[in-house]
Amino acid sequence: VPDVDLLVLGGGLAGLSLAERLAAAPGARVSAAVLEARSVYADDRTWCFWRLAPHRYEALSASSWSRVMVRDGAREAVVDCAATPYQMIPSIAFYQRAEQVIRASAQATLKLGSGVPGAPQRDGDGWRVEAEDGQVWRARYVVDTRPPSTKPESILWQSFIGDVVVADRDVFDPGVAVLMDFDDQCVDGVQFAYVLPTTPREALVETTVFGVRGLSPRQLRERHDDVLRARVGEGGVSVRRSEHGVLPMGHAPAPARAGVVHASLFHGGARASTGYAFTRVQAWADECAAALLRGAPPTAPRPDPWPRRAMDEIFLRVLRARPERGAAMLTRMFARADGAGLVRFLSDAGGIVDSLSVMRSLPPGPFLRAAWQMMKGVPCRGGA
Ligand SMILES: Cc1cc2nc3c(=O)[nH]c(=O)nc-3n(C[C@H](O)[C@H](O)[C@H](O)COP(=O)(O)OP(=O)(O)OC[C@H]3O[C@@H](n4cnc5c(N)ncnc54)[C@H](O)[C@@H]3O)c2cc1C
Repeated sequence: VPDVDLLVLGGGLAGLSLAERLAAAPGARVSAAVLEARSVYADDRTWCFWRLAPHRYEALSASSWSRVMVRDGAREAVVDCAATPYQMIPSIAFYQRAEQVIRASAQATLKLGSGVPGAPQRDGDGWRVEAEDGQVWRARYVVDTRPPSTKPESILWQSFIGDVVVADRDVFDPGVAVLMDFDDQCVDGVQFAYVLPTTPREALVETTVFGVRGLSPRQLRERHDDVLRARVGEGGVSVRRSEHGVLPMGHAPAPARAGVVHASLFHGGARASTGYAFTRVQAWADECAAALLRGAPPTAPRPDPWPRRAMDEIFLRVLRARPERGAAMLTRMFARADGAGLVRFLSDAGGIVDSLSVMRSLPPGPFLRAAWQMMKGVPCRGGA
């Protein structure tokens, strides 16, 4: 007899989103356990996304912006997104809420400090999983949200470091989220600052590089100090917290265990061309929980439709081949494409008209060359 119906390996965004839905379902009939390596959650990231529709985490939103901006030197492109504001959810609020909902449920369990080092093993018609703490679990189904132990090759890597800074005077405009403020001195990729001001004195300021290799916090820190100096000046600044990430953009399929549902960032959780994952993970968690609650097996994240996959790959090939043109191309895209359509396109909700508007905003030459190379199968992926 299995210990639980479902074992979820990894209790981050994907694992907790799924477990929370199962725990909160009225009269829940699916027993689930989440095995998470961390022993305590920290405020380690913020999730931003355009709010295209009401969602279950409205109460967790700490800030939102009705305008977003992209800047390349003197050229600025502002998109009005008042109808679909750019929302921010602090991860700690998300983790705490998920912990509460799961702990209040008789059906779900969250085991912190319970890393799972190996692959799940077949056990009759279910699975057997051994955690680091020695506990053995048996389950009918396994959903694995752990990152793969070896990073797959990827067209580009998105590396970033960010600080929530508080200045001693007004330096930010909380009316606008700066998505990309490009640095044209960067020689190893496309570099930009991402600035999310929550008050005139406080903002999350990040330095991001889209490059062929991932960068460590140490490699990013020097560039980031320059970014901070340019925005806030010397002195008079305190740092409330920091975050760092290296996300794949257009990676090769990550290793998967047959019969196990994989649902991490590396298995369809994130959009290839942007790294945005929050709304995609929520859509997957809705579908997967619904399947389990009607007695069906869990479902994997849906693959992107081929036109989106192709557009993303072409776009990433262009940025990899011509990083020096990235700033001008992305600013042009924000300036020329229909704003509402661009937001839908970036949020996986765009239709054919939105895709055409985005395509028309971009210079055709490099994109046609990259499309031709993609069709010929010219390799485009490299190391982590
Ligand atoms: C700093 C940062 C900021 C981001 N900002 C945004 C954003 O603004 N918008 C957006 O859409 N996306 C954003 N992302 C991308 C994406 O949304 C996040 O990375 C998201 O957390 C991915 O969800 P996940 O469940 O795949 O991975 P995670 O949330 O990282 O969850 C994986 C979990 O598995 C656990 N784990 C690892 N190994 C084991 C093991 N052996 N056994 C058990 N547990 C294990 C980890 O501790 C972790 O809790 C951001 C990413 C980072 C790193």
